[in-house]
Amino acid sequence: MVPIDLSGKKALVMGVTNESSLGWAIAQKLHQAGATLAFSYQGERLREKIEKLTTGMHGVRLYEVDVTNEEAIKAMMADLKEAWGGLDCLVHSIAFAPRPAMEGRYIETTREDWTLALQVSAYSLLAVVREAEALLNEGASVVTLSYYAAEKVVPKYNVMGIAKSALEATVRYLAYDLGPKNVRVNAVSAGAIRTVASMSIPGFRKMTAKYNAIAPLKRMITHEEVGNLGLYLLSPLSSGTTGQTVYVDAGYSIMGMDFSEE
Ligand code: NAP
Repeated sequence: MVPIDLSGKKALVMGVTNESSLGWAIAQKLHQAGATLAFSYQGERLREKIEKLTTGMHGVRLYEVDVTNEEAIKAMMADLKEAWGGLDCLVHSIAFAPRPAMEGRYIETTREDWTLALQVSAYSLLAVVREAEALLNEGASVVTLSYYAAEKVVPKYNVMGIAKSALEATVRYLAYDLGPKNVRVNAVSAGAIRTVASMSIPGFRKMTAKYNAIAPLKRMITHEEVGNLGLYLLSPLSSGTTGQTVYVDAGYSIMGMDFSEE
């Protein structure tokens, strides 16, 4: 067994709402590997929940940050600089699209909904990494969360698919910008999992049957599997990997048409 030891490392995880959040799945693995953690959450209503979740995590720091608010991002990074001096791991696990934009046809998406979805779900990675740049230590790693609809049409995912395409392209451009500093940027593309965000996607429940039928592993993935891939990409074990979108989806994304059973 090759142990991943992140003791002494500092990690910021952005986008935890509750124990089902994918950001929390990665945070738990970072904690088990010995990293000291900070979290950001969108609104004051979540503070008590995050405080409860993180009870027992030594040295944890909490920040209320809406990623559309540049000042809030700046203030968090300034505080982390003062408290920690630097940052080794950064997890961006944030997405949002207005409900009407995910109910009808993509062609109906309004300018306002399109802009908001792209701003929160893709531009925010750029905004956060730019403000974090001065803190990112040599060897640091950034991970964001994406989905297959960045590449292929997944009806109803609509503008979120376009946001994920922009997010994955942003990962590549940031990887280019930060590579000379030996800072890496990658995306975890996760198969469908039950979380607050995914349950708001119309028809999400039907996805389980699709995974069971189509994915080579004949199942959906687990939160722990997302956490494990996140940990790997945030650790020196993946030191040669940057700018990539790495799938953890039970193999669903490799499939074309399967008519072998018919
Ligand atoms: P989640 O627990 O709901 O996490 C999404 C987070 O984004 C929430 O904490 C949410 O805060 C936050 N957020 C939304 N707008 C924000 C804003 N303006 N400022 C700051 N934070 C904001 O759901 P999740 O499924 O774990 O999602 C995490 C990431 O994984 C997303 O990028 C999602 O697209 C991606 N992903 C999920 C799946 C899946 O099946 N679950 C699959 C592939 C990729 P609030 O709760 O306050 O709104």
